[in-house]
Amino acid sequence: MINLIKNRSVFKAFVIGILSLSSVFVYGQIDHKQSRENMIKEQLLARDISDPATLKAMRTVPRHEFVPPDMQPYAYADNPLPIGMKQTISQPYIVAYMTQVLKLKEHNRVLEVGTGSGYQAAILGQIVDTVYTIEIVEALAFTAKNKLSSLGYNNIIVKTGDGYLGWPEKGPFDAIIVTAGAEEVPEPLLNQLKEGGRMIIPVGPHNGIRQLLLMTKKSGKIKTKEVMAVRFVPLTRKDN
Ligand code: SAH
Repeated sequence: MINLIKNRSVFKAFVIGILSLSSVFVYGQIDHKQSRENMIKEQLLARDISDPATLKAMRTVPRHEFVPPDMQPYAYADNPLPIGMKQTISQPYIVAYMTQVLKLKEHNRVLEVGTGSGYQAAILGQIVDTVYTIEIVEALAFTAKNKLSSLGYNNIIVKTGDGYLGWPEKGPFDAIIVTAGAEEVPEPLLNQLKEGGRMIIPVGPHNGIRQLLLMTKKSGKIKTKEVMAVRFVPLTRKDN
């Protein structure tokens, strides 16, 4: 009897261990859908993500499609992952948090600076009318563009360029999301924010902890709120 109880607790520990792995296997294949559900429950709902549109998008977009093949088993883990060219795809919670805080509406047009893998853009594209996204590394912009179109996400427009300058021809935007860490808030982005619009941006010293700033434009004035300490790869300019 004692043995049985002991075995049961060993078994229970084993099952819990298996369940807490970042990916779930069915017949030796990774069950990405189940991994995604676990991610929603353990990383988003268990924290402070409650916006239905954000949760729906996070539940729908196949994050594993946006990471290199060798990273796919870890695609739904609670951390950022390398995507090549010294860049990373943000942790799922950060993607969800930055999306939720923008309070997006279906008819919105959103600007993203730092396309990277294209995952954050795909999440935004599930919620809003059009996403404009800028990536400074040409190879990443190229891969992201192909990935997004192969998955049928056709309301996302990718361009190669310096996102510090924004995309004046397409602005002003209802919301702006910067997914690379800036040392200061780029003025052109504030100018391209609509009245009543929201911008989320990590600001602080390179190689250090930055603050995620939520900026809102009301009667032409910018209000800034620090919402969270974060780590982000740097926002670079053409000359460095
Ligand atoms: N949002 C991405 C992750 C971004 S990582 C995703 O979902 O995968 C930050 C990205 O910002 C990197 O790809 C980096 O090359 C890009 N970046 C850095 N400086 C930039 C700039 N000035 N303009 C546009 N993109 C920039």
